[in-house]
Amino acid sequence: MNKKIFIIGLLLLMISYSGIKIFAIDNLIFQPNLNGSIENDHIPPQQKNDPSNNPIIGPIKRTKAGKAIITQPTSKLVLVNKNRALPADFRPTNLTIPNIPFPFEENVPKKQVRPIVAQALEKLFTQAKQENIKLAGISGYRSYQRQKNIFNYNVRRKGKKEANKTSAQPGESEHQTGLAIDVSSPKINYQLIEKFGETKAGKWLANNASKYGFIIRYPKAKKRITGYQYEPWHLRYVGRKHALKISSNNLTLEQYLQQG
Ligand SMILES: [Zn+2]
Repeated sequence: MNKKIFIIGLLLLMISYSGIKIFAIDNLIFQPNLNGSIENDHIPPQQKNDPSNNPIIGPIKRTKAGKAIITQPTSKLVLVNKNRALPADFRPTNLTIPNIPFPFEENVPKKQVRPIVAQALEKLFTQAKQENIKLAGISGYRSYQRQKNIFNYNVRRKGKKEANKTSAQPGESEHQTGLAIDVSSPKINYQLIEKFGETKAGKWLANNASKYGFIIRYPKAKKRITGYQYEPWHLRYVGRKHALKISSNNLTLEQYLQQG
């Protein structure tokens, strides 16, 4: 009899102890959820600042892996970066080759931009020529497939970790919008290097691009915001009104759009 009571007592003690434990674990799991901190802590810091709800930029879709996919890729103010990718099947319509100098002859897709960008580029280049500034187009439109080929090539050459550092994942390049173009000058042998920013042509471009609707998309010392090093050669069309505001206030596109 005593033995039975002892066993029952022991069982009761074990059940109540494990009950407390389960309760304690439940608290641990669910308590942080009540104030939402678990969810926030799982979002990478860059995504916390992601202005996805800004009506100008438009809503995003999330893939199963949590990657944000842009739903309004044709917008003139579309924000493409390492947190916001373009859909794989997005290709702008009516891509055209602007009437500006290129240092190569072939009519390849990378000469193309959207018609509105071609017009603005032609005006920008005409003004540059009048002021004896020598510029050339290097690389405009870049398809999703080409981005994929470049990325895979870099993975084969350098390994995935290194490739992730130096090249964009497919869909994350602004060149897919047809609103971006890399430019350079004969002075530095048409290379896309930081030194371009110190050349006469590079300085002229930084001072005049906004009048024609372009911004230097990756300014110096803004990598924390844009995700990219300084690229004095990468022009992004946003239209004259926005470009003037962005450049006169020394903003990135991310900051400008976050202001609303
Ligand atoms: Zn570029």
